[in-house]
Amino acid sequence: MGESDKFIDVLTDDFGVIEISVRGARKGTSKSSSATQLFAYSLFCVNKRGERYYLNSIEPIKIFYGLRENIDRLSLAMYFADIIKFTVSSESPSGNILRLFLNSLHMLESEKRDETLIKAIFELRIMTKLGFMPSIAVCEDCAVYEAEKFFFILDAGILKCGNCASEIGQSSRVYALTPSTLKAMRHIVFADLDNIFSFNLKGESLKILEQITEEYLILHIDIRLKTLDFYKQLKA
Ligand SMILES: [Zn+2]
Repeated sequence: MGESDKFIDVLTDDFGVIEISVRGARKGTSKSSSATQLFAYSLFCVNKRGERYYLNSIEPIKIFYGLRENIDRLSLAMYFADIIKFTVSSESPSGNILRLFLNSLHMLESEKRDETLIKAIFELRIMTKLGFMPSIAVCEDCAVYEAEKFFFILDAGILKCGNCASEIGQSSRVYALTPSTLKAMRHIVFADLDNIFSFNLKGESLKILEQITEEYLILHIDIRLKTLDFYKQLKA
């Protein structure tokens, strides 16, 4: 907007995603330029006139500079931001999505976990926050918690044990789960947000989880995200 001004999208706790007009943001000397950049966690003081927010003053709290050192992790952070932008409504509380995002950016920056695991955790947990919590506590039909085999039916977001799986319709997208994948999914959905990254997963179990969370998200939010395409191109 103009030569030195810009609009930024800001994820807030109380008002969802809002657009804020920032004056002089592109001038190098502006204090607001670093605190309003991508992946800056800041304290915003704004004025509201009509439907618009205007930046009054700003204090940076944490800027995730480290993300820029790794293009894969940076592109994942952009993908997370994209999901938030397209799914979190404005003018209503965002229900801990800010905290999920901050924790995820921290994990990406600190490189303490495999980035594909961070991606899967973010995808599945944000879906539960957006009202698409899958029903994975017990088998949908017979309510067993433990069984030799479990299947996840993606369209319905439900779990079926091996005994009840013959009822699955032909058109459903079905994943056979390893015990570790199911345990991970239950953890991601039910664990306290601060403990959500406190497990690890590898090999085939991680691969199944990755496929499920990405496909589950895309199926339900139904938007083609270019940032996801970009990330996948990088990985290819
Ligand atoms: Zn069953």
